[in-house]
Amino acid sequence: MDRTIERLVRPNILNLAPYTCARNEYTGEARAWLDANENSLIDGLNRYPDPLQLEVKARLSELRGVPSDMIFLGVGSDECIDLCYRVFCRPGIDNVVAIDPTYGMYKVCADINDVEYRPVDLNPDYSLDVDRLLAATDKSTKVIWICSPNNPTGNAFPPEKLEEVARRFDGITVIDEAYVDFSPLGSMAGRLAAYPRMIVMQTFSKAWAAAAMRLGIAYASRDIIDLFNKVKYPYNINILTQREALRVLEGAYDVRITASRLVELRKALSAELLKLNVVKEVCPSDANFLLVKVDDADRLYDYLKKEGVIVRNRSRVNLCGGSLRITVGNPDENSLLLEKIKQYGG
Ligand SMILES: *Cc1c(COP(=O)(O)O)cnc(C)c1O
Repeated sequence: MDRTIERLVRPNILNLAPYTCARNEYTGEARAWLDANENSLIDGLNRYPDPLQLEVKARLSELRGVPSDMIFLGVGSDECIDLCYRVFCRPGIDNVVAIDPTYGMYKVCADINDVEYRPVDLNPDYSLDVDRLLAATDKSTKVIWICSPNNPTGNAFPPEKLEEVARRFDGITVIDEAYVDFSPLGSMAGRLAAYPRMIVMQTFSKAWAAAAMRLGIAYASRDIIDLFNKVKYPYNINILTQREALRVLEGAYDVRITASRLVELRKALSAELLKLNVVKEVCPSDANFLLVKVDDADRLYDYLKKEGVIVRNRSRVNLCGGSLRITVGNPDENSLLLEKIKQYGG
């Protein structure tokens, strides 16, 4: 194992003898599967699934140009996020640093794992100050969380800045790319060979239109992927999800089309929102949502909710005063939103 990774891993995880499941020891067609106490009288879901999801990874590998053994699949990005804590962060001792504001799960998982969470403000224009981020780290900082495009601000950070963090930080740099398919700046997954301590996360929940499936992806060096595989539940991704993932991946071309369609809808929605009096600012977005600064966000939020239009009130989030986060919907939903804001007195 790469020494710069090994020294970051919790000792109990480094020394862990993982559960070996039956399907780890033999792959291929057996004449009789008598190893896992399954019920062979009934076909369907009677067999345990592939613990390493190799078929799904082979397809993803072709699509994203990352070798299969540098891919981990989790029950949503949520599992990948949690594993970063469980593998690297000693409860009560280590800490993590994150941009602020950002996605809420990094802090929730830190709290669950009893790991100190250090938020570092973005600049007022939501750009990234790399020096300030690194100044918050110390010798017990194991992970830096960067979400790009960032939720809830919507902007992506320049790849040079992300690489600067990965280069200068001696711990794990995570880039959460849940919204990457909407961004012109593209993925960092192609740069993993240069940064063995970087983890790039993606998800089927946004552009891939499969949030209900609960499938998240982590791309990283083989050392990190091996550690994740050691710690995860043996059969974390069930067979129904694996089959559905292969079906969704067949539609990769459609995904590119609907992602660019959503980007067009976002531009149109942004232009229409800017015409309204209650709207003070629409933040530039590289994602499928808009952070919108309005007069009296609480009042507009309550009004829209009463009218059955649900947005996210982010007005009490750091640096997001007066802001609502609005997902770009289908054309009917976007029209309804605009109509309701006009009725409100927009
Ligand atoms: C929506 C979102 C995810 C997706 O999480 P899943 O568990 O894969 O559904 C991950 N990261 C960010 C920043 C998100 O906004």
